[in-house]
Order: sequence, then structure tokens, then C-alpha cells
Amino acid sequence: MAGAPVGDDVYAEDPTVNRLQEYGAELLGQEAALFCATGSLANLLGIWLVAERGVEVLCDERAHIVRAELGAHGALHGITTRTWRSVDGVARLEQIEAEVSHIGGHLVKTAAIEIENTLNFASGAIQPLEEVRGISQFAAGHGLGVHLDGARLGNACVATGHSMGDYGSLATTVTLCLSKGLGAPVGSLLASTRENIAKARVQRKRLGGGWRQAGVLAAAGLYALENNVNRLSEDHRAARGFAEEVTRLAPWAIGGEIPTNIVVIDTGKLPADELLARAGAQGLKLSKLGDHEVRAVTHLDVTHEDCVEAGKIVAAILGEVEPR
Ligand SMILES: *Cc1c(COP(=O)(O)O)cnc(C)c1O
Repeated sequence: MAGAPVGDDVYAEDPTVNRLQEYGAELLGQEAALFCATGSLANLLGIWLVAERGVEVLCDERAHIVRAELGAHGALHGITTRTWRSVDGVARLEQIEAEVSHIGGHLVKTAAIEIENTLNFASGAIQPLEEVRGISQFAAGHGLGVHLDGARLGNACVATGHSMGDYGSLATTVTLCLSKGLGAPVGSLLASTRENIAKARVQRKRLGGGWRQAGVLAAAGLYALENNVNRLSEDHRAARGFAEEVTRLAPWAIGGEIPTNIVVIDTGKLPADELLARAGAQGLKLSKLGDHEVRAVTHLDVTHEDCVEAGKIVAAILGEVEPR
């Protein structure tokens, strides 16, 4: 980062940012990419490219864009969302198809379908490539855009063996977080056609997101893409190791498989806040999803042994708790 050649990215003159954007576009199976400060900004621009004011985007009810972006798409771009409820966090064409509303006298027109891979709030569920392909073909046939929130697309890819381009090329607009499990301190990519990215660049500046010598950050992003994608499988193994320890003493606490690096824990009759406080006192940080639901995420700063140890801490606490 300290040695990265830099320039003014508002003029597209930062060589390191340009290199990251070219490499990112290639990896994501798109023509061009834009380096953004956050995944929320990349999603904001990506959704804006596929939906105009007064139309709707369909997405899972647990999608990051509806739950964790503070209503930005409505507040800033006048876009509404309507959601489907998936059982297992997997977006399925037959369910989405039934929700699409074509323009009429009074129904909001559906402009795009949004898919999140992996789905954060559904225990990091993976979207199967064939399902995404079906949705993409359906969307193309009906004049709908597809936005892929690929904050953790690398996780889906190491788990399935598909490339990021296999998924990314099926979307109109796709994002990828360079922070999260990939380990860069800051930044996300938005990728799409050259024309779309040129438009997004203008809107990013309008929103105050144009930046100058951002190459210091892009250098970390490049490092992350070149070195930290394949090792995401270690995070998946660590998440399973963590979950195994928890279920040893509290078999009811974790439902189903652990597909990637996210483990959702049911805290039973113990309030989530209490688990957070007690685990926190032992040096383990968890995040709260609900009054009786907690999330653990593995990443490159914790080892497999750390995660097994963390599982033991949670197991010791929940082992004395009754299921709900
Ligand atoms: C983290 C995340 C984002 C972006 O979040 P920022 O904090 O704005 O970088 C978007 N989508 C998903 C699924 C995420 O997990």
C-alpha cells in the first residue's frame, strides 16, 4: 500500500485503481468495474443502474439491500423494493416469477431482480449457479435487470468450484467486497458494461464518493484478489469446526449445514445480549441478529484453532441453557 503508484482517480488517473478495476472486471466476467468505498455504495449504484425512480426491485426478504442499507435505495434514488420469502435462503425462479409485476394502471412495475450470494442473513446460503442462470435468462426474456450483491461471492465460488465470472457474467450489475473475508481494509467493486460503469462513475461523484489518490486502498484490494480468494475455504472449515463444538453441548443451537463462513446460533432461552456479554468477557466477539439469535463469522484474522476455542466458549454457555 505504501509503495503503490497513485494519481487522481476523479480524473481516472490513478494507475493502481485502474489496475484493480481492470482485474476486478475480468474476474467478475464484466467489461468494466468501479472501485467504491463500501459495498453499500456499490449496491446503491448497481441498483440505480437497473431501476429508475418509481419502479421496484424484487429481492429476498433477508437481503442486505432491504435490511442493512438504511433504506438508501428509496431514500436517495426513489426505488421501492418488494420481497419474496425463501425457505433456505436460495432464490428460486418459480417463486420470483410469480412476484414479477408488469406495468399496469396501478401496479408498481418490476424493473429488476436482486440476488445476494452468499445470503448473509440466511447463514451464508449459496445460490446454485443453475438457479441463477435460470433467473438471468428469465430476466433477459422479460426486459428485467439482475443485480448480484456478491459481497461474499468469493465464498460461494470456493464452496462450489465455480468462478466469480461464472456468476458475475449472469448479472447486469455485480458487486464484490474486498474487505470482509478477503481482508482488505476498505473497498468494494461494482462491475457491469463499460457504458453502465461510466454512468455509475458520474453518480458516485454526485453522491460525494469520488476520491483522489485512492491507489493506496486499491493496492490492498489487488493483494486481496490475488492472494486471499482461495484461502476462503479455510474460513469455511473453521466455521464448521466452530459449529461442531457448539452442537456438541447444545445440539439444538445450530440448524442445518454450515455452507460457508457464517454460523447463525439460536441462543435458546438465554437472551442474545447475555450470550454476547458472557462470550465477550472471554474475548469472543459475536454479533446480534435478533433477541435470541447471534451470528459468528470466520475470516482470515482468526485461525482454525481460534474458532474451535470460540466454539467451546459458546458451547459451555449454551450447554446449560434450555432450547426455546
Ligand atoms: C457487508 C455487505 C455489504 C456492504 O456493506 P458495507 O458495510 O457497506 O461495505 C453488502 N452486501 C452484503 C451481503 C454484505 O454482507
